[in-house]
Amino acid sequence: MKSKVWLSSPHLGGNELKYIKEAFAANWVAPLGPNVDGFEQDLELFLNEDVKVAALSAGTAALHLALIECDVTHGDEVICQSMTFSASANPIVYLGAVPVFIDSEKDTWNMCPVALKEAIEDRISKGKKPKAIIVVHLYGMPAKMDEILSIAAEYDIPLIEDAAESLGSRYKGKACGTFGRFGILSFNGNKIITTSGGGALVCHSQEDKDKAVFLSTQARDNAPHYQHSQIGYNYRMSNISAGIGRGQMEVLDERVEGRRRMHSFYSELCENIEGVKIFSEPDSDFYSNHWLSVITVEGAKTKTSKNHEDLRLAFLKDDIESRPIWKPMHLQPIFKDAPYYGGKVAENLFGNSLCLPSGSNLSEDERARIAKVMLDVLSNKKEYSVMR
Ligand SMILES: *Cc1c(COP(=O)(O)O)cnc(C)c1O
Repeated sequence: MKSKVWLSSPHLGGNELKYIKEAFAANWVAPLGPNVDGFEQDLELFLNEDVKVAALSAGTAALHLALIECDVTHGDEVICQSMTFSASANPIVYLGAVPVFIDSEKDTWNMCPVALKEAIEDRISKGKKPKAIIVVHLYGMPAKMDEILSIAAEYDIPLIEDAAESLGSRYKGKACGTFGRFGILSFNGNKIITTSGGGALVCHSQEDKDKAVFLSTQARDNAPHYQHSQIGYNYRMSNISAGIGRGQMEVLDERVEGRRRMHSFYSELCENIEGVKIFSEPDSDFYSNHWLSVITVEGAKTKTSKNHEDLRLAFLKDDIESRPIWKPMHLQPIFKDAPYYGGKVAENLFGNSLCLPSGSNLSEDERARIAKVMLDVLSNKKEYSVMR
């Protein structure tokens, strides 16, 4: 029987177990220890922008703490990219604040600067200046950071970068996650590297990092007994998870290359197929880790008149996992009453795009299986000859 081809599965390097064994040997089986410190240092070196990183239990937790550090509280409004995973928006609601969603623009599929500016001005005119802006680098693609940073600066609103999907991506040579007041990373099992579950907050001062660590370890005041003058959280990363992270950091560059190779594979495969496009960088300012490769199918233009959903079902029959792109937040039942600015860019992309198997660990045989299904559904070609 053929094995299942996954959309994005963990790809271990080899030294993860070594770091875990060290943790066991020294009895550092706790949410602190040498692996936590080492993993944070590895990330700081990799991001290379004089940042301070706090390792946490999840990317969602990192975003929650970033919003707290931006003083977001009950009744505030926070601007958020609409086309994203729900975890980008949920922490706004944890704090009793209201998300204001923004459409995508066509080049990067990320936050549209024009709609962002319109939203800020309209919210201000209604008497409420947004407390923070959450921009996402979707599927690894950097957002239009020059434009977005300049709008955030013009209105003096802190920018939080959700870089959960974009570790290893760069905009004009600078690492995603290091542009905003805060950046957040995720090491969930499906991300480009994993700690089996975890995240990090990227800060620009030791003070901001210390505050995140304080809040993530139950907000204990400096006293021999347990004393609290703030609400705390249990969000610190465990020394075991961080051990996996240290092993993964040794192979991060290879993982980025592997994901980018998958993107090249799809680009070459689809080059001559009518009506389809592989989501790609608009120009050389953008360098995506291509965490997930995404295909856009214009059903009316393909030779076979088949669309992205036909492709998903054909993959499913062959036990190949693919997935519709994130459904925009302003179209989600839970956020139906939230304010929204923009048009139908995100909605239209959602209506014709599909995430393709993108793991850095896919074999030549698995790629051949994928290609066969794609050519069959989209161009009626039955044969796939190995291209490299
Ligand atoms: C995965 C993801 C998150 C959440 O990260 P977790 O570590 O799973 O909590 C947030 N935002 C985006 C865009 C993501 O893809």
